[in-house]
Amino acid sequence: MTKRYRDLNTYFREQFGHRVHKLTVDAGMTCPNRDGTLSTKGCIYCNNQGSGTGALARGLSIREQLEQSKVPVARRFKARNFMAYFQSYTNTYAPVETLTRYYDEALSVEDVIGLAVGTRPDCANNAVLDLLASYARRYLVWVEYGLQSACDQTLHRINRGHDVACFTDALKRARQRGLPVCAHVILGLPGETRSDMLATARFLADLDVDGVKLHLLYVIRDTPLETLYRQGRFQCLEQQQYAELVCDFIEHLPPQTIIQRVTGDPHPKELIAPDWALQKRDTFDWIQRIFQERDSRQGLHYSPSP
Ligand code: SF4
Repeated sequence: MTKRYRDLNTYFREQFGHRVHKLTVDAGMTCPNRDGTLSTKGCIYCNNQGSGTGALARGLSIREQLEQSKVPVARRFKARNFMAYFQSYTNTYAPVETLTRYYDEALSVEDVIGLAVGTRPDCANNAVLDLLASYARRYLVWVEYGLQSACDQTLHRINRGHDVACFTDALKRARQRGLPVCAHVILGLPGETRSDMLATARFLADLDVDGVKLHLLYVIRDTPLETLYRQGRFQCLEQQQYAELVCDFIEHLPPQTIIQRVTGDPHPKELIAPDWALQKRDTFDWIQRIFQERDSRQGLHYSPSP
């Protein structure tokens, strides 16, 4: 089935002419929304692992993590090159000298041709962005900012610790340095309606953000969201409802935006709800089917601002 949106594989093939795969790296960093700088509680859906693999804490260096993961991925997906994806916690939350060491180590691994650095928009100061831009002269470098929603009330409700204006500013400063930006968005946040979620899509479309990752809000063990869920104050989306929202969202984005993800990847041992969050393939198939039934595609409801 042909995809009705511009996905990451398509983009990589356009850039390099062959398959490139992202390999997750855990650099053992923390987050200002956890270490007490902003708060100790974190975002309401995040637990102490901060979506980390804990690989560094288990004694695996950045090089070892990449060397270990690239072999099976190369075999399975026939990928020839790799992007080192710094995913856990906030991957610019360290002195520039430390970051330089981490990024250098990742880029010294054979066949690694770039970096994708996940961070918070309030942790992307100019020195960090200058550092990333210096790598971008020789490598493909993406900045991934967690936005989650373009509604300040929602960001407050989920204890993000930054507002929407902070994202806009961080995006602008990355753009000034020629760095492409991917925005992370969560669908199904507490108190958000379909119209709030589509407002986030229109906000990102107006900014012409380079990439978007869509995630389902699922409930993870030992989080404030788990408490809300158990008290009956938060309900998860149904699988079809989520797939429909994904299609709605993508229809509002410009055709050139790279859709880097259409769902999340919970750890089975940590997941409380919904169960279907583990059925990634089914969710993916739902999304393709809905696009087909609607005879719709990315950009169908997008119109550039006058
Ligand atoms: S910014 Fe990321 S790591 Fe920090 S608390 Fe929120 S979800 Fe967790």
